[in-house]
Amino acid sequence: MRILQPSRTVYAYFDGRVAGYRFAPGDNWVDDGALSLGIASYAIVDANEAVVYDTHVSVAHGNFVRNHLRQLGAEKITVVLSHHHLDHVAGTSAFRDCPVVSNARTAAHMTRTRTAIENGTHDGLPAINPLVMPTQIFENRMQLRVGSLQLDLIEANIHSDDATVIWIADEGLLLAGDTMEDTITYVAEPEGFDIHLKDLDQLWELQPERILPNHGDPEIMALGGYEKTFIRATQQYIRMLKRMVSEPELREKPLNEIIRGPLDAGWVNLFKPYEAVHKRNIEAVLAAKLS
Ligand SMILES: [Zn+2]
Repeated sequence: MRILQPSRTVYAYFDGRVAGYRFAPGDNWVDDGALSLGIASYAIVDANEAVVYDTHVSVAHGNFVRNHLRQLGAEKITVVLSHHHLDHVAGTSAFRDCPVVSNARTAAHMTRTRTAIENGTHDGLPAINPLVMPTQIFENRMQLRVGSLQLDLIEANIHSDDATVIWIADEGLLLAGDTMEDTITYVAEPEGFDIHLKDLDQLWELQPERILPNHGDPEIMALGGYEKTFIRATQQYIRMLKRMVSEPELREKPLNEIIRGPLDAGWVNLFKPYEAVHKRNIEAVLAAKLS
């Protein structure tokens, strides 16, 4: 695991994007959805307080984050979950004595699927057992303080219907969870595309100076994150997927042609494993029978 420091107060804990390295043999959600694409979770640290944004892909990863925070002298730790997908909530056991904040939809998704996740039958193995649940629920917006910093937790429907992003207005910094990914968004809920586009416009309204996604390029994270045009790149790709419903010829084009504009502008970068994600996304869009 690599520790990056995108800003004075923000640390990224990055794992994956390592050729030949696997968490476990065979198909599993840790390698296939997370480590192959690269995944970061984050901590915002000020004075002796910290907010941990997602607990990573395993309890061992969560413990790694916690040890680092201990070294930094953070005594009061609060966990915030970006959404309910397993690669974001698997390490929460490492923080089970801390408050765990999520929006109400995230908590509801986790409650509904808890038994299957703990048995390893939800997205398959590895099981997360016990699945540590949120202890504090919010709707729409919530404010948290970390030392002298104010964080705004903002609910959104992008990528999943239960996204929570963290906006640090003082630093112009948006922690985006899975609402954006470099190279392309991973489509889990194509029926929500129109809401995703609208809620991405809401994030644009914040005018962030930098954006930090959970899945992206560690070199860019280390330099402070993506520019706000990352939001436009995500919208462009969603619109192309929508067009594929009525324009079958687009489905055959390689990913680098589908997102040529954003690539040429440097808003996102082509990371090869996302070509497989793109194929999956097209299947998901067609299966959803969007009109
Ligand atoms: Zn994810």
